[in-house]
Amino acid sequence: MKKKTVLNSGYVELVEWMGSDNAVIRNARRCWKSQSKGTESDLKLLKHLLRKGHKTPFEAAVFTFDIKCPLFVARQWFRHRMASYNEESLRYSLAEREYFIPDDLPAHLRETWVEHHEESFNLYEKMIAEHYMRREIARSILPVGIYTSFYWTVNGSSLQNFLMLRTDRQAQKEIREYALVILELVKKISPLCFRTFEEVVLQKGGILS
Ligand SMILES: Cc1cc2nc3c(=O)[nH]c(=O)nc-3n(C[C@H](O)[C@H](O)[C@H](O)COP(=O)(O)OP(=O)(O)OC[C@H]3O[C@@H](n4cnc5c(N)ncnc54)[C@H](O)[C@@H]3O)c2cc1C
Repeated sequence: MKKKTVLNSGYVELVEWMGSDNAVIRNARRCWKSQSKGTESDLKLLKHLLRKGHKTPFEAAVFTFDIKCPLFVARQWFRHRMASYNEESLRYSLAEREYFIPDDLPAHLRETWVEHHEESFNLYEKMIAEHYMRREIARSILPVGIYTSFYWTVNGSSLQNFLMLRTDRQAQKEIREYALVILELVKKISPLCFRTFEEVVLQKGGILS
């Protein structure tokens, strides 16, 4: 699927997935030794699962996303332990000269903001190139607004927990932007599960309102 731009330099890309609505419905129906009985009946079942917190059938769907986000967003993201992460290393690779710039920054502050980050990168690169400092040490010069990238593999149940917490208005605006993009992506792959989740949990729970 195509990369979706988020913030000034970030993105979300759904790179791979396994299972979708059919897998979740199939696994859930094992409880009753039944099979799919058509969309209306399946929707009723999904609503029941979501209302009662019967979450395991949603684990039958698994998604891998490629994410690029500022370090301060990644730090919040990585608190979601029920997932797998593979992040770029600033021990083994050089940081790219990219950093978060808030879109609502007044022009005079934007200049100071950019200058600060550019100077930090100048010093970081100088320490490595001229003073042979190890990358893993030199990186501590860089601000938390620099971008990082990682693969995130998460099952449907844990993803719903992430979306419930991070699409909420209480969540920081920047991670919320990522969560809202992810919600739209998974609704395309698994429309019955994630549209029902949006309706039953996010809208009725007052999270998206
Ligand atoms: C608005 C907001 C503000 C926050 N502010 C802070 C903050 O100031 N400081 C801070 O440290 N964190 C903060 N957090 C992080 C928060 O406490 C969680 O760590 C984070 O949201 C991950 O949620 P989770 O544990 O449900 O997810 P996961 O780690 O993916 O866990 C999923 C579920 O698995 C179960 N689980 C996982 N591990 C355990 C375990 N060890 N024991 C029992 N059950 C487990 C729980 O049911 C959990 O809900 C904040 C989160 C939000 C959304």
